[in-house]
Amino acid sequence: MTHPSGYGFDTLQVHAGARPDPATGARQTPIYQTTAYVFRDADHAAALFNLQEFGYIYSRLTNPTVAVLQERIATLEGGQGAVCCSSGHAAQILALFPLMAPGRNLVASNRLYGGTVTQFSHTIRRFGWQAEFVDFDDPDAVRGAIDEDTRAIFCESIANPGGAVSDLDALARVAEEAGLPLIVDNTTATPWLCRPIEHGATLVVHSTTKYLTGNGTVTGGAVVDSGTFDWSASHRFPSLSEPEPAYHGLKFHETFGPLAFTLHGIAVGLRDLGMTMNPQAAHYTLLGIETLSLRMQKHVENTRRIAQWLERDPRVKAVTWAGLPSSPWHAVAERICPRGAGALFTVSLEGGYDACVRMVEALEIFSHVANLGDTRSLVIHPASTTHRQLTPEQQEAAGAAPDTLRLSIGIEDAEDLIGDLDQALTKADGKTATG
Ligand SMILES: *Cc1c(COP(=O)(O)O)cnc(C)c1O
Repeated sequence: MTHPSGYGFDTLQVHAGARPDPATGARQTPIYQTTAYVFRDADHAAALFNLQEFGYIYSRLTNPTVAVLQERIATLEGGQGAVCCSSGHAAQILALFPLMAPGRNLVASNRLYGGTVTQFSHTIRRFGWQAEFVDFDDPDAVRGAIDEDTRAIFCESIANPGGAVSDLDALARVAEEAGLPLIVDNTTATPWLCRPIEHGATLVVHSTTKYLTGNGTVTGGAVVDSGTFDWSASHRFPSLSEPEPAYHGLKFHETFGPLAFTLHGIAVGLRDLGMTMNPQAAHYTLLGIETLSLRMQKHVENTRRIAQWLERDPRVKAVTWAGLPSSPWHAVAERICPRGAGALFTVSLEGGYDACVRMVEALEIFSHVANLGDTRSLVIHPASTTHRQLTPEQQEAAGAAPDTLRLSIGIEDAEDLIGDLDQALTKADGKTATG
């Protein structure tokens, strides 16, 4: 996992993209709290607007603080470029936007973040796009779902909520055979646990809201491009390969090569969809990323201890963490994310739906919130919250059955978290026993 610069991950997570401020020497990246940037003269302005010269025009498109974060995330993921935006959901739309058109579809995993299932099942239909959900453990099912209107294949590296790990190498082979980009949501793994581009992914999307920021302060998203996909190999991606009318017939792929997707994301995506990240959010996320590897080590170490403890407890029916040898995804996890299978998993209780609700209420250190990837430990009952909009079949397939809780393990002391889980299980279970 070394970078072409020769620097390792821990060095890059602190330094990539940043340099002392040229105006003041400020060592920490300043928050460039400005909407617009003064042009040197009329020719400079014209060159910027024509994309003949790179520079800052207006903060809906680019901002120096956000640019540092874009370069840092692209570097950590091993991509050519990245575009940051206002949320993880915005990143998904921004990633699909250049690929899709009315009548086109994507093939998506049936194990995804609940909000993504809703976005893909309902909202994108308003654009005339459609998602076909299949079991991504079965490459033949993915292959079989692809038709002539398919423009992307979409999965999560470590899938929400159950922590199932996608076999990215196998999925990348299916995508390559079909001439399609593989998009991987790497939110729950982060580039410290998994680097999807090394397994053949074309694009990586993030909700930077989660581990990259790390402390539950700001929402944000990112789209990273590997720069390796040949958008001109077929006529299926005209936004990237054909003349762009809004830029006097410029062809993005021909003109910008491996930066085509990134520059299209800024020059067309952010310009016209406006789902921009603000510089304050970029600053918080830059601070968070500096300690990403340190936090992820602790997240994973705590998760290993807690998952092993829960699995042995008779009040617990099942624990899904892919780091456990009992998980059907254990072998895939060792290959795709060898440093650990993340810090997110589900636990199902013998006491069913009612015990889950009581457990959520009895936990003291764990916060009951619709978030994950915080330094704090978090819990949610997906069937009554994040996955509420799904049908019972979709809930089951997504690993969010009514007897299931999702835990996002934080970086507190593992003994304290185990103690909290123990007392809450007693309360949840005790009431079950007495009726
Ligand atoms: C949270 C999350 C999203 C959505 O991100 P937001 O920043 O909340 O819009 C997408 N995918 C995964 C895996 C997530 O955890």
